[in-house]
Amino acid sequence: MLPALDPSSIVQSDYQDYLAALKQSSFSGDIEFSYASRLAVSTDNSIYQQLPQAVVLPKSIEDLSIIGQLANQFESVKFSARGGGTGTNGQSLTSGIIVDVSRHMNQVLEVNVEEKWARVQAGVVKDQLNDVLKPLGFFFAPDLSTSNRATVGGMINTDASGQGSLVYGKTSDHVLGLTSVLADGTILDTQPQDIESAKTLAQESTVKGKLTKQLLDTCLGKRQQIIDKFPRLNRFLTGYDLENTLNDDLSTLDISRVITGSEGSLAFVAEAKLNITPIATFKALVNVKYDSFESALRHAPSMVAANATSVETVDSNVLNLAKQDIIWHSVKDLITEVEGKTVLGLNMVEYNSNDQADIEQKIAALSQSLTDAGDIGVIGFQVTYDKSDIAKIYAMRKKSVGLLGKTKGLKKPLAFVEDTAVPPENLADFIMEFRALLDGYDLKYGMFGHVDAGVLHVRPALDMCDPEQEKMIPQISEKVVELVAKYGGLMWGEHGKGYRSEYTPQFFGEELYTELRKIKSVFDPFNKMNPGKVCTPLESTEQLVKVSDKKRGEYDRQIPIEIRSSFEAAMSCNGNGLCFNYDTSSPMCPSFKVTGDRRHSPKGRAGIVREWLRLLAERNIDIHELEHNEDPPTWFERFRNTTDKNIKEDFSHEVLEVMEGCLACKACSSQCPVSVDVPSFRSRFLSIYHQRYMRPIKDHLVGNIEKMAPLMAKVPTLVNFFLKQNWLNTAIRKTVGYVDTPILSEPTLDKRLSNKAVEQFNLSALKTMSPAEIAKKVCIVQDPFTSYYDADVIESLVKLISKLGYEPILLPFMPNGKPQHVKGFLKEFANTAKNAADLLNQLAELNLPMLGVDPSMVLCYRDEYTKILGKERGNFNVQLVHEWLRELDLPKVNSSVTSHTEYALFGHCSEKTALPTSEKEWQNIFQQVGLGLTSIPVGCCGMAGTFGHEASHLEESKGLYQLSWEQAVKQLAPEQILATGYSCRSQVARFENVKPKHPLQVLAEHF
Ligand SMILES: Cc1cc2nc3c(=O)[nH]c(=O)nc-3n(C[C@H](O)[C@H](O)[C@H](O)COP(=O)(O)OP(=O)(O)OC[C@H]3O[C@@H](n4cnc5c(N)ncnc54)[C@H](O)[C@@H]3O)c2cc1C
Ligand code: SF4
Ligand code: SF4
Repeated sequence: MLPALDPSSIVQSDYQDYLAALKQSSFSGDIEFSYASRLAVSTDNSIYQQLPQAVVLPKSIEDLSIIGQLANQFESVKFSARGGGTGTNGQSLTSGIIVDVSRHMNQVLEVNVEEKWARVQAGVVKDQLNDVLKPLGFFFAPDLSTSNRATVGGMINTDASGQGSLVYGKTSDHVLGLTSVLADGTILDTQPQDIESAKTLAQESTVKGKLTKQLLDTCLGKRQQIIDKFPRLNRFLTGYDLENTLNDDLSTLDISRVITGSEGSLAFVAEAKLNITPIATFKALVNVKYDSFESALRHAPSMVAANATSVETVDSNVLNLAKQDIIWHSVKDLITEVEGKTVLGLNMVEYNSNDQADIEQKIAALSQSLTDAGDIGVIGFQVTYDKSDIAKIYAMRKKSVGLLGKTKGLKKPLAFVEDTAVPPENLADFIMEFRALLDGYDLKYGMFGHVDAGVLHVRPALDMCDPEQEKMIPQISEKVVELVAKYGGLMWGEHGKGYRSEYTPQFFGEELYTELRKIKSVFDPFNKMNPGKVCTPLESTEQLVKVSDKKRGEYDRQIPIEIRSSFEAAMSCNGNGLCFNYDTSSPMCPSFKVTGDRRHSPKGRAGIVREWLRLLAERNIDIHELEHNEDPPTWFERFRNTTDKNIKEDFSHEVLEVMEGCLACKACSSQCPVSVDVPSFRSRFLSIYHQRYMRPIKDHLVGNIEKMAPLMAKVPTLVNFFLKQNWLNTAIRKTVGYVDTPILSEPTLDKRLSNKAVEQFNLSALKTMSPAEIAKKVCIVQDPFTSYYDADVIESLVKLISKLGYEPILLPFMPNGKPQHVKGFLKEFANTAKNAADLLNQLAELNLPMLGVDPSMVLCYRDEYTKILGKERGNFNVQLVHEWLRELDLPKVNSSVTSHTEYALFGHCSEKTALPTSEKEWQNIFQQVGLGLTSIPVGCCGMAGTFGHEASHLEESKGLYQLSWEQAVKQLAPEQILATGYSCRSQVARFENVKPKHPLQVLAEHF
């Protein structure tokens, strides 16, 4: 039996006292110290793992100040600020308290277009800011691949930059002012000040006076040493930016500049005033294809010289991984194959201008030079001026790191030497030597990056569960440090130092490193702010963090290898954070979007399950034995476990909480670059958890819905009469925890079809038919939701099939099992799937087209059936309606009833993510028959099967609906709205009292 699992680490007593005091204070934010909450922020995108004591989530500057003020009484309490948690080198990891500003401090406060600035809270996500600025014709220029989840606070503290940095610079170039909070709670406002007033201020014994004095002493006093020390690169040295704290003619001093890039080691940044840039009117992107990656690297500088705004590159490994990803469908026409050649390197060359003639002339010159290029390895190029196409190419490029994580096998590409910067003219030679170094270790890797700035991202693939391979990390790091020095470059081009801080003394040299420590001393004398990162205060004996510090692999390797491979979905999460995508029209990840709680994300769930597996391994529990337990605990034992007050501390309860928050929408299984499929391990967890603990009644109701619905549909009027009674609904809510129980269709499907030309299913008769007879038939595979609650949709499908000249056959209803899978009734699901697959395989042998209507049910036949049945699943294929229609030569709709309505399609999120072309295909079908259909970009509707009917999730379900659906639905006339998912149609019906149609119904009406 699953044992009760004690979380292995309790919060230290000094931190417990601090947190208790914080709770008593006027702090208005959240304070979290459950093991699951701490685990959710114990990793970032790096190889490191560090469990914090707690997570506090302030709501205001005052909250940040209270955090600091109270800490004055608790010497040992330390902090690390955190935004999106996308650092690649453990920058935000700490054994102290995580101060997460992303949940509550995430507002764009003010935009001043005339003066070209915006004022934002530190937790604002970069794309969120740009979405506010776009309608005003502006953008926040520094770019980074994680722009849909990294925060402005994180960008400032790593001095982030990326594509376009040659023209647009780094984050620090756009910071006009900061409001920060020091370790002792002091609120500090900083902006550039003229040098004379700075000198006057430096006389004062105020905090700001002391800071100013130290910065003048260091930055002015050691100016020449600073200039001599660091290479003249676009990616100048960060943390702390001694050179640019003063401007070029030494007339101003800017304290903000030293905070920028300091990795949270000086202060919490609360608010920022940022420079905003007008969006260029015209853009063009040239995708240049090469016969080798080296050719791409060697050619890049000449394009920079030809005034390109940016030149980005990817190698063939990354390209090939992108080709296998969901993202490829959006770019494949923009990067076509070259006949007879293989594209082994790609440069993406962008030109921006406000003058169309100017950009066209530049493109013409580049095109000519590419055509005449001779033997430099260019094998083709494509130009696009379309801004949305350009955005698609960059989305592919931005996904590169994540895609690398998809590399097959135990060795996964890792960040530890991943953002070196060398002068661009040295890049090709540097990379050739870098490759030789990695080849010497027999390591695979993928490469991509900003060739224009000499920054290349290189992630060697290692298995961190193998201690021998882990030893290579410091060895390779050392050699790369030497290599960048040889080529006049830097170890950290844009991602910052984190655990590589041990190299700071080496890069700064003793004299300047001492200056860094003096600066740290005046900001943070007691080393409370992200201790160990960048440097330590001058008087401190505490150590810097090290490359060899504790890594995630040390925990992962405690899980037996067969369990690791069986739970690969949870193990392979590399923390790149794509599942934190802020965009409300993206399907990923609804539970995180609506809660803002990192536990409730694919990353959070994967990390928490890994720890659950580790704790089980620590107790020598074989999880496979638990899963196949033929003698599970009795009802009485489960009752006793459930009611036993002494084992409330079981960590499995925390795992349950995060699993129950998941909508099982499966967006993660296709949107996550490494396919972290939460529903797959969620159902396995639920199945094991409920061997020990009783299930709530609602689980049984959902798990048995496919048995109950056909029975209830025999007396729909009676059932509906009761379901419409308020007293019964209240009772259901209180006892079962269910709300807004759906009403059965009346008339029932049987009645609706009784006088229609729909053939009764007769397998023996079908088996005797000729191929010509079979070719006329189309089988409808029923699902419980559409057949019993949306019967008019099936009625329309029958009509549509007939009108198109085919003979519909309605298969008798047979359970699909999806609800059992969602609730973790895995044994029952296996039986249901076996029965359904047996029949469907027999029909497949007859070559009968089989159509299903509801996307999540049809997709279950494809994915969950394959996982549970393996080879026994057979080869049957149940098609969605559009997959059948797209193959037909469809007639135009009846011109006398041709509608002038422009229909609006709201796709089901499981369908959109698993079948990314589905919306486009519906549009093509409508266009073919002469109807207009626009696809509406929305995220999850919030219903997701039965999730939205559970009382405990009602608020989240409503919240999700309001995030993207409500506004879009309200802008349309009811008859325009079409939705492919049963859940989505019922969600709109319950909030708007209007039930959208399925697109097939419109076709059935118009033919
Ligand atoms: C797939 C991938 C691609 C990436 N591509 C790029 C890229 O193109 N360019 C680039 O520059 N970086 C890139 N990065 C690195 C990372 O996204 C950036 O460093 C980003 O700026 C971090 O922002 P964040 O909000 O996630 O910060 P976090 O990771 O949460 O924190 C980063 C650092 O900033 C500090 N910090 C965060 N918020 C505050 C605050 N309010 N006050 C004080 N300190 C704070 C933290 O303590 C930490 O030291 C990439 C990372 C990944 C995973
Ligand atoms: S779940 Fe996927 S998208 Fe989210 S952090 Fe992990 S690997 Fe990245
Ligand atoms: S299934 Fe949906 S809700 Fe659950 S983790 Fe994946 S994306 Fe999030």
